[in-house]
Amino acid sequence: MAVPFRRTSKTKKRMRRTHLKKTVPGMTVCPNCGESLKPHRVCTKCGYYKNKEVIVTNKVETEEE
Ligand SMILES: [Zn+2]
Repeated sequence: MAVPFRRTSKTKKRMRRTHLKKTVPGMTVCPNCGESLKPHRVCTKCGYYKNKEVIVTNKVETEEE
């Protein structure tokens, strides 16, 4: 079995790992309230999806009053 000739230095290890990073998931903006949310999900703030109210939320009703 092949064995590494030299131990990988701290610098080389860190240089390699600069490409390993967490990615931010794609976010869309709610057309009704402007809240940022994940695509193909009902808005958690106003309960709208595809410009229709899917879930009736109490928060929006209190804000309008
Ligand atoms: Zn919304």
